[in-house]
Amino acid sequence: MKRIFNFSAGPSILPVEALQQAQTDLVDYQGTGMSIMEMSHRGKVYEAVHQEAIDNLRKILGVPDDYAILFLQGGGHEQFAWVPLNFLTEGKTADYMLAGAWGLKAYKEAQTIGKANAAADVTKIKPARMPSQGELKPTPGAAYLHITSNETIEGIQLKSFPKTDAPLVADMSSDILSRPIDVKSFGLIYAGAQKNVGPAGVTIVIVRKDWVEKGNPKIPNMFRYSTHLKENSLYNTPPCFAIYMVMLVTRLLLKKGGLAAIAETNRKKAQKLYETIDGSSGYYRGTADPAHRSDMNVTFRLPSEELEERFIKQAKEYSLDGLKGHRSVGGIRASIYNAFPAEGVDALVGYMKEFQKKNG
Ligand SMILES: *Cc1c(COP(=O)(O)O)cnc(C)c1O
Repeated sequence: MKRIFNFSAGPSILPVEALQQAQTDLVDYQGTGMSIMEMSHRGKVYEAVHQEAIDNLRKILGVPDDYAILFLQGGGHEQFAWVPLNFLTEGKTADYMLAGAWGLKAYKEAQTIGKANAAADVTKIKPARMPSQGELKPTPGAAYLHITSNETIEGIQLKSFPKTDAPLVADMSSDILSRPIDVKSFGLIYAGAQKNVGPAGVTIVIVRKDWVEKGNPKIPNMFRYSTHLKENSLYNTPPCFAIYMVMLVTRLLLKKGGLAAIAETNRKKAQKLYETIDGSSGYYRGTADPAHRSDMNVTFRLPSEELEERFIKQAKEYSLDGLKGHRSVGGIRASIYNAFPAEGVDALVGYMKEFQKKNG
């Protein structure tokens, strides 16, 4: 078996132990004579998997009982629409905090549904950063304030969450489970699983139950959070295999000593790369404001696009893959989610130093 160091932004690296467990289980899941993909989602066997995935998430994130954990589909993009469909009702305004491409996309989607307001917009500011609390101009009585906790493309992360009277809605697609959060300070959290929790196909939603009940009753059943809450995410056929993978990944995380320990490991991994960038006498240039640098996606540039191309190409010879920045911004992006090993970070640091020596 040969595994490479996979820096892909998403879908991204999964813990090898989870993949191996899935391999063991694949053809005959625990003596049932079938795989988890082939059995009824209403049967006892799948039900246990479904419930363990929910229970594991509740335990790791400390999700209180008055919050539901839902497994939906359609990824972050569909949540861009669901949130305003459910909560941006007639006569209301929804606030959006804009710092990068994903928040902007969520904002534009909300505008197709109702009145969305940019309560802060720093998307044009370089180096990339998150808005400060002081820059935030909330609408009185806003339906909610939408934030993106980690802007995956720009490589910036909110180090503390804004204070607001409106329910706080967070797109945590690229940093959920990477650090402790206080779920009680949010109305709703959503995340596509494929960056830090599992394969593509399942979207995790954590939402305050009493808020769900106040959602717009005039939209189709399928798009209402309340429908899926009532049915414990078994209203329609859920993405069973993806949820099973979430169960395996979260089971492993529970053994790792909680999110504080995981956050510390993540911070150390990121720190090594940022130190290499800062110690390169300007050869590597970080694109994020140092105070807002992401522990998940480390973005930087080289002196020319030609060198960047060579950097990405030659990296493959060292089994370092997925380093190309998002097509909209270029440069280099090293995505180092929970499952990304520290040895891979060391390998990249070594490669960066060697590349600079040869091409500096
Ligand atoms: C990847 C990503 C998305 C989009 O996710 P899809 O599952 O492809 O819809 C949304 N928000 C953030 C922060 C992301 O990183």
